[in-house]
Amino acid sequence: MTSHPGTRPVLIADANTLAAELSRQVAGRPELSKIAAPYLAIFSAQALVEVAFSPPSLPEAEVRERLARGIPALAPEDFRAEPGVLRGLWDEICTIAVQHFPDLAQAFESIRHWPDGREDSLLSAAIYYLRGEADILAEEAGLEKSLFQFVLNNTLHPFLRRYAAALAPLVNLEAWYRPYCPICGGEPDFATLDKPYGARRLLCSRCDFEWPFRRTCCPFCGNENQYLYVPSEDGIYRLYLCDRCHRYLKVIDRRELVEERLLPVERILTLPMDQAAREEGFG
Ligand SMILES: [Zn+2]
Ligand SMILES: [Zn+2]
Repeated sequence: MTSHPGTRPVLIADANTLAAELSRQVAGRPELSKIAAPYLAIFSAQALVEVAFSPPSLPEAEVRERLARGIPALAPEDFRAEPGVLRGLWDEICTIAVQHFPDLAQAFESIRHWPDGREDSLLSAAIYYLRGEADILAEEAGLEKSLFQFVLNNTLHPFLRRYAAALAPLVNLEAWYRPYCPICGGEPDFATLDKPYGARRLLCSRCDFEWPFRRTCCPFCGNENQYLYVPSEDGIYRLYLCDRCHRYLKVIDRRELVEERLLPVERILTLPMDQAAREEGFG
């Protein structure tokens, strides 16, 4: 069967697969071992809950109808997970963060203890997160927003990957072409230029789904002018910088590679690019 570059099926790699690939990549590049260490620990914590989680099925006709109207498949309020399991993983992510980022230990301890109250508080935090409103909770509680997002992202990721895998067959990639994820509505935090023509696919920062999007357009503000990129020395990566909204996007050029790469692992291996972009004033 021949496949069109835009219709390459989306396979969502699970935490075990990501951990194995990250270890393999780091074995050949020891300078990355410090960067990778917390994520290896996070993947192994995620793997245990991920295998045990089956997302409740959503009515197929309703999902298709939502997608046809440009609304993501998973409505925030439809997200379900066992509150106790969420709490357990939240705790583990905070523990890992405290161990690997000792400068931020106190901030992560505050997040771990948030909001010590209702059992379903993390479930409602998940709904805020999926609506893109998690900063409101962090602000109310006086928590560091980016660290709160980090813990939420890593706690919810295994659940959302399972939702993405379950809902992927319902998404018509050729009909989407929007700047947000068709599964969960998340923003991209990585992208690829596919063989053979360099069609761009975005990677969802929340659920790891991949979808096609115009290459010459900033997915954060729609800017089509002044959308420039800086290539890495080896030509494999590019950093796209938007002059209008001052946001950036990391991209891997698959045309430069023989072997396959897993984008959620590439997102970690390229963390030094995030640092470089922030130093240039991009967010
Ligand atoms: Zn998503
Ligand atoms: Zn922009």
